[in-house]
Amino acid sequence: MTDSPLKILLMAAEMVPFAKTGGLADVAGALPKAIKAYGHDIRVAMPRYGRIDRDRFKITEALPPYHVPMDDRTEHAALMQVILPTSSGDIPVYMLDNAHYYDRDGIYMYEDDADRFIFFCRATLEGLKRLEWQPDVIHCHDWHTAIVPNWLKTVYKNDPFYQQTACIYTIHNLAYQGIFGYRVLEIAGVDEYGFIAHPDMPHLNDVVDFMGRGIYYADILNSVSETYANEILLPEFGEGLDPLLRDRRDRLYGVLNGIDIEINNPATDSYIAAHYDAGDLSGKIECKLDLQREAGLPQSRTTPLIGAISRLADQKGFDLIDSIIEPLLRNYDVQIIVLGTGDQRYHERLNEVRARFPQQAAVFLTFNAPMAQKIYAGSDMFLMPSRFEPCGLGQMIALRYGSIPIVRETGGLADTVRNFDPTTGEGNGFSFRPYDSMALYAAIIRALENYRYPQTWQQLMLRAVTADHSWAASARKYVDLYRRAIATRFERPPRETYGVRG
Ligand code: ADP
Repeated sequence: MTDSPLKILLMAAEMVPFAKTGGLADVAGALPKAIKAYGHDIRVAMPRYGRIDRDRFKITEALPPYHVPMDDRTEHAALMQVILPTSSGDIPVYMLDNAHYYDRDGIYMYEDDADRFIFFCRATLEGLKRLEWQPDVIHCHDWHTAIVPNWLKTVYKNDPFYQQTACIYTIHNLAYQGIFGYRVLEIAGVDEYGFIAHPDMPHLNDVVDFMGRGIYYADILNSVSETYANEILLPEFGEGLDPLLRDRRDRLYGVLNGIDIEINNPATDSYIAAHYDAGDLSGKIECKLDLQREAGLPQSRTTPLIGAISRLADQKGFDLIDSIIEPLLRNYDVQIIVLGTGDQRYHERLNEVRARFPQQAAVFLTFNAPMAQKIYAGSDMFLMPSRFEPCGLGQMIALRYGSIPIVRETGGLADTVRNFDPTTGEGNGFSFRPYDSMALYAAIIRALENYRYPQTWQQLMLRAVTADHSWAASARKYVDLYRRAIATRFERPPRETYGVRG
């Protein structure tokens, strides 16, 4: 019985290859493949944003249009479908369509985001009933889908179709909680259950916090690295939800993300100038020269080249980078290439640095997937000094491409990068602990010093490219969590400790 195949629905706001702003899309794209490889029937649901081309992806209609409850009315939904072929079988991806909500240029940051994702979730649950595909587990990701565990314990509690369905909720980033006003509860049809009222979280007494509701109602919770799953129990990382997380810690797990090793493969990547692998790393230098040319920097085999690919947000440590980048470029023969978008002040600062150090700094202020691969392949080192980092994929992709990470020891960075110790030869990167620009500066200098010894560096690169960052082990852990969610599925939330205020 324990090995019987499961029916799993994964719900996420973004998924590679259809829509991506960050790591969530990578996870939603890669995890299903790895779970499918273990023989489970896994399917994915996401919105069909206007930018997802129906013809290019061969999107077809899976159901005739239907109506779903929203607020005091119903809205029209279309459930579309794409079949994603993988080496372990086809994965159906359901795309929920509604021109009013999704025919826009972007994915998020609209005034009616709460309505847009409530609609997505409701249309998905209603659509599955019409498809007559009854999942054993629904795996929800981040605040956009957090209303699902809430509904399964409330409005769908007596619905025969969802009687046996367990729900697991994955926290990718506690900093984005989806906080709205009371009206949202009416739109979602859960106003009779009220706000989450927790004695130690008075700030939630009069707001709707989707992340909090996911944590409160899910059968099993997890975050995307063991270290981050422990960190979020503390006020420093808990973003105001740590009391609730501490109450639910018996159901909270850490499962490290993997990376898609088929997409991120320097031996086959079609975006990079030359291919390489552990048997022959020589192609990497071709990638470096090509990257320098494309970035308008002097071509040099020996000048160390640091890459950074990131959302330009405080979370990612750009304030630390900002304070050391000028002394670094002034004092060392080093090049730096940054690819990212985000806060305007970082755009401006990076442009200033580029203007001041045109021979050493290049900056691409866009979201550009091919360019990202060129930087992973062409850089010698990869900079990621995050203030906090639930998992982080950049450092793992960098390792796979032999670019040695320089990171702050937090969250998933602490779980994947071990500081290099030249006396023992152990470690796979350079890390520092205090959130402090001098500590970052020292870590970069250590990396530059070691780079001067080709044999040491070769050894570091080999260790990096041969490490296993695939999803295989973590997908197995998720399957264990799915079974645990089914086995320990509870009918009502734990009202004995606190309750919802009506
Ligand atoms: P987060 O999800 O917090 O943004 P992660 O490290 O988990 O950070 O994942 C970021 C993903 O997005 C990686 O695959 C990275 O390569 C990619 N990425 C980030 N910024 C850009 C960009 N400007 N252009 C292309 N890819 C990017």
